[in-house]
Amino acid sequence: MNLSALSFFRSLGKNNHQFAVIGLGRFGRSVCSTLHRLGYEVLATDIDEKRVSEALTERIVGHALQLDSTESAALKEAGIFEFDTVIVAIGNYIQESIITTLNVKEGGVPHVVAKASSEVHQKLLKRVGADHVVFPEYEAGCALARTLTKPSIIERFDLDPDNSIVELIVPDDFHGKTITELQLRNRYGLNLLAVSHDGKFLINPEPTKRLERGTAMVVIGHNKDINRLPI
Ligand code: ATP
Repeated sequence: MNLSALSFFRSLGKNNHQFAVIGLGRFGRSVCSTLHRLGYEVLATDIDEKRVSEALTERIVGHALQLDSTESAALKEAGIFEFDTVIVAIGNYIQESIITTLNVKEGGVPHVVAKASSEVHQKLLKRVGADHVVFPEYEAGCALARTLTKPSIIERFDLDPDNSIVELIVPDDFHGKTITELQLRNRYGLNLLAVSHDGKFLINPEPTKRLERGTAMVVIGHNKDINRLPI
């Protein structure tokens, strides 16, 4: 997550309950089924009639239409321009994805999320006005590499390219030490936000709190400093 993504998510209205998803590949279908399961209204579209009827039969959406999203008139007629948020889930057809994103933005949709399948695709989507671009294969690859190299890191929230909030398993070296003894700020430049205790998190733990092997802790700081932890 970066700061431009943050402003995009902040701009989404809290009362937004309707979404249109264009493209019913694996990505589009997972967006549809999750939104639908969460109780939101979803209109799905695809150029392929078979994919449209499958989505309806499998009940992953409330409404689905067959249309070619490169045709602005077809989008208008289907009411896509009335939606507050549209997800362009066409990853493997770059030309169609770019034209669709352009059409939807020109149609006045305020929040357009588009799926990219390469870095160039990502840049092009931004150029034609996508408000938020996701690149799932790249993001999943980065996450896997991080998990493989640092299995003690349970969760990571990237604040910006340099700083993160990280949930990690308490390193063996920290076992039995109090927060004061650990001196995380002096030794690593990190701030401890929380430690796990009885299946919950203790926020801003007391300096006398002793850390235990096998529990979790949450720190905030520079990635370089996080990498210096004995994990
Ligand atoms: P995958 O399914 O391989 O994970 P994906 O989710 O990015 O990838 P794509 O293979 O890009 O999906 O396909 C997305 C869907 O977009 C397909 O079902 C395809 O029929 C549909 N599609 C392609 N061109 C158009 C178009 N012009 N209008 C509407 N839908 C289209």
